[in-house]
Amino acid sequence: MRRDGCSGVNGAHEGRARQNPGRGPSKRTVKRVAVCVILLAMPIRSAVVPPSSGQIRASTLAEQPQVRTALEWFEKNLKWINEEQVRLTEIPAPSFEEGKRAAAVAALLAEEGLNVHSDKIGNVIGELRGAKEQEAVLVAGHLDTVFPAGTVIKAQREGDRILAPGISDNGTGLAGLVAMARAMHVAKIKPQRTILFAANVGEEGEGNLRGMRALIDEYRTKLRAVIVLDGSGTEHVTTKALASRRLEVVITGPGGHSWSDFGMPNPINALVRGSVRFINTRVPTAPRTTFNLGQVEGGTSVNSIPYEAKLKVDLRSESEDEIVQLEAALRDCVAAGVKDEMDNARDKTKGKLDWKVNPIGSRPGGEVAADSALLEALRGADAVVGNQSRIERASTDANIPLSLGIDAIAIGAGGNGGGAHSLQEWYEPAGREMGLQRALLTLLGVAGVVTEKGS
Ligand SMILES: [Zn+2]
Repeated sequence: MRRDGCSGVNGAHEGRARQNPGRGPSKRTVKRVAVCVILLAMPIRSAVVPPSSGQIRASTLAEQPQVRTALEWFEKNLKWINEEQVRLTEIPAPSFEEGKRAAAVAALLAEEGLNVHSDKIGNVIGELRGAKEQEAVLVAGHLDTVFPAGTVIKAQREGDRILAPGISDNGTGLAGLVAMARAMHVAKIKPQRTILFAANVGEEGEGNLRGMRALIDEYRTKLRAVIVLDGSGTEHVTTKALASRRLEVVITGPGGHSWSDFGMPNPINALVRGSVRFINTRVPTAPRTTFNLGQVEGGTSVNSIPYEAKLKVDLRSESEDEIVQLEAALRDCVAAGVKDEMDNARDKTKGKLDWKVNPIGSRPGGEVAADSALLEALRGADAVVGNQSRIERASTDANIPLSLGIDAIAIGAGGNGGGAHSLQEWYEPAGREMGLQRALLTLLGVAGVVTEKGS
């Protein structure tokens, strides 16, 4: 077994790179010389890389009068977009309590002439019917935030910055979603494929991507691509879904008095013993694998032996295999921690400890093909707006379609943001129009546009 975190003696992780004894330095030099000779013998070619088909399509698209109108609309209506972002952000929307914010987004989408409805778990879907009704592209932004009910959300302005919990994640995405719908409406763009503008519930934490799961369930057979608008920025594109698993450890016992029942097994002691073992688990840097002990609960008072202790753990990895191993290590460590506590109990007659590990979330992995039409459309859009995208792996709503083989990406909706998931979260709208133009051109690149007669 590669990982034996619970024995307390961890073998160092074996690196993937191995020395190849067959490739000595002299051989390598010979090879390099040979390559140089071949290069010198080749005819000199122009260094200019010809534009890709995606780039040609995107620039043709951007020149269509209606599309140009939509792209310009963003530049001319920044104030409206910023104000709607603040208004939506100030409506609290913890996961599982997104209703009020959902209603506000639904009203905005309905103003843009979309056919708007809510599904049974609270997703809002605005449909713009395309010429090919049986094919659809989904563009989605999550409604929920990590901030619990009661968190004061009042946007403050500091120079060019707007500060508010959730302003960027996902105030930017939601503002982007409604701005794209509005720009298309104003410009009277009719798509080839139906576009579904969705504000979805349950992306954060224990929401466990339930909103996106429901959307994919509903539209799976029609969907040709999914674009997730999550947070700010234009510099990245998430094309790889980071697999993650969330677990809750529960240890229970009889409980008792701190003085008179001393010596009885204690669930918190067992949890601490098991946790110490688990955090000594070695995880590889490649494939990158992480764990986090994120929440601990248990006990009723300082002078009581608790009857229950709970721990929530988040496991992530670029490799599904590593996650499976890490979960096994967690179970081993909890079992060993409970055993330690039982073995050390002075009074074994006063009951025993039970334990279980409950799954509380799972996000599957996946990856979009490098030559997919969706990535082509994004690269084309980047070329038109003068942007360069860095490929990233992350855990987003795009995990769900990606795990099912549906082309999907997650991108920021422009501007700059930081401090996500903290009370100091901020957003700077400067330059947001470029991010919105990039998103719209990508969307239209995969959805297609019905050209007017004569244009
Ligand atoms: Zn987000």
